[in-house]
Amino acid sequence: MVDVGKKYGFDFSKFKPPFCEPIQHKGFFNGIANITITRLQNLSQQNRDIFKTAVEDCFQRSGLAKKGFKIINVTPENVEKIIENSKKAAQSTMNPFKKRRFFKRLTRDLHVISYGRQATCAIKDKYILVNMENLGAAAIHEMGHGLNVSGNIVTRGIFRARALRKLVPFILGIGILVPKNKGNEETQSKLKKAGTFVKNNAGKITFATFIPTLLDEALASIQGAKLAKGSPLPKNLLKQLNRTNVLAWTTYLSSALIISTGVSLAVKAGDKIRDFIAHKREKKLQGKA
Ligand SMILES: [Zn+2]
Repeated sequence: MVDVGKKYGFDFSKFKPPFCEPIQHKGFFNGIANITITRLQNLSQQNRDIFKTAVEDCFQRSGLAKKGFKIINVTPENVEKIIENSKKAAQSTMNPFKKRRFFKRLTRDLHVISYGRQATCAIKDKYILVNMENLGAAAIHEMGHGLNVSGNIVTRGIFRARALRKLVPFILGIGILVPKNKGNEETQSKLKKAGTFVKNNAGKITFATFIPTLLDEALASIQGAKLAKGSPLPKNLLKQLNRTNVLAWTTYLSSALIISTGVSLAVKAGDKIRDFIAHKREKKLQGKA
């Protein structure tokens, strides 16, 4: 069931980010997550083997195999081969520029995965990519993602809504470009009112775009925890798995908070600069008069 790389050619042509688990990033919460990930990587050989058996057991009970999902064991030994053969397998209809960019990112991410620093679920291609030896436990959370996207309308909807994060640059742009509201609100057009609303709530709206991601991640861990509960994992390892998933979730929360605070501050800074320029111009005009 775990594809150990005999058949290396994976067609990633449908593969679409987002990649999960941004644990290689820096930051306070990510630091904590890194510690727990490192602990998960430093397990004794005996515990690693227990996790590997548990992953196989969870995968079998999850029903994901019937839905077409596969677990691919990505290792430093087979990663180059996977990339090379995936390039060959990629659809020739793919635009060459897009293909180059796509494989640049895929190469980077697969290397991180091969060292066991990250795992992911390639939703469209139905691959769970993980280094089974170093981070086998992460496959259980990734199975949760697989269950979310192939689950009911609510979990599928939550997954799709992750794309709302792409709106962040637009929120930032509106926040900076729309001037502060000085006129009479009643006489303003609907568009201007909407712009002012986005500007005044830029931080909160930015945070709201992260809510589906936070929900999807939490749900994936809950689904994973349910699977793990029925597996041969002993209590102490089950506890360690769940604790790691909670801490990994805080990295998403911290990213959401940092980015939304950043947007809010950038909008305020934009206003300050505009005020400063207006003030200077006024002074200049007064000097001329
Ligand atoms: Zn995840």
